Amino acid sequence: MSRAALATIHLGALRRNLARVRERVGAAKVMAVVKADGYGHGLERVARALSNADAFGVASLGDGLRLRAAGIGKRIVVLSGPDEAADLSEFRRLQLDAVIHHESQLAWLESDRDPRNLRVWLKMDTGMHRLGFAPDDARAVHARLRALPNVDSDIALMTHFAASDEFDNDLTARQIAAFDAATRDLQGARSLANSAGVLGWPQAKNDWVRVGGLLYGLSVIERKSGTDLGFEPAMTLSTKLIAVNRVARGERVGYAATFECPQDMTIGVAAIGYGDGYPRSAPSGTPVLVDGKRAALAGRVSMDLVTIDLRNAPGAKVGDRVVLWGRDLPVEEIAARAGTISYDLTCGMTKRVLFVEDGA
Ligand SMILES: *Cc1c(COP(=O)(O)O)cnc(C)c1O
Repeated sequence: MSRAALATIHLGALRRNLARVRERVGAAKVMAVVKADGYGHGLERVARALSNADAFGVASLGDGLRLRAAGIGKRIVVLSGPDEAADLSEFRRLQLDAVIHHESQLAWLESDRDPRNLRVWLKMDTGMHRLGFAPDDARAVHARLRALPNVDSDIALMTHFAASDEFDNDLTARQIAAFDAATRDLQGARSLANSAGVLGWPQAKNDWVRVGGLLYGLSVIERKSGTDLGFEPAMTLSTKLIAVNRVARGERVGYAATFECPQDMTIGVAAIGYGDGYPRSAPSGTPVLVDGKRAALAGRVSMDLVTIDLRNAPGAKVGDRVVLWGRDLPVEEIAARAGTISYDLTCGMTKRVLFVEDGA
């Protein structure tokens, strides 16, 4: 028997979330960002569910290869482009789009005599200071790319926002202005917005949006869950109770004995822990659902187990399903308790979690 820890992936939620993104962005094309194994939901599974997207965005050549091997024929954009000159022949063979963000990549392209066509996206750094050319160099880099016979002349232009989740932070407005100024007379489709850009910066929709989180029903907006924003969670993480014990008032539960029972009470033990990717930093009081009722962690998260205060779930018994996050328990709530963001949690599922698909 496998362990009880299950990540159920709701394929219908993925599809409906894509439709919801389309409602918001009008005619803009949607690049479904599936990096990090589809934000932990499973790369191939997510790509199949989101077959209506206009393109997929991945972080590495290896992920592009996986998608092609799975029979995905759609446009695929590798968001950091080639890591070395030898990658270029794979980009051409697999027909992957390359984001070009650095002088070293431009040099590899300029000495590449391979006649097969390559599609590129020119990335500008407008204030995040991670990847991209300086706005002042946009025109010259664009001209150098246009001069290459084995690079498609239809060059897309992009930049990435650093703080679009803060709707009152004017850094995003400054990034949009810097991008517009740098690309004013350059030909090519434009792409600026990520999920938070779609929600908070409608002026940044342009020709392509690059959306990850919202497709999975995840939010990065503080104090808002994906559900609050009108999207459906695509992952439910659950397990089972494997013990239900009476513990006397004053006794302590778990490693380092951090939880002291305020009264005689029932403690449930569920088969999941940080070895499965449940965050060890989730403190006592972090909510879980036991047989649909809200209960709370009591004591430290262990490698294989969590301990649960069952005072709110008096009928709980061995074998009952415990939901760690999902439809009725937003992952954002757990992330806030654990001091991180929802993306970090769904990306963190380990190999021993059994993934199952729910087609509805
Ligand atoms: C991850 C990523 C996105 C998607 O971001 P979300 O917040 O998940 O929508 C878009 N563009 C780039 C360049 C990215 O790396």
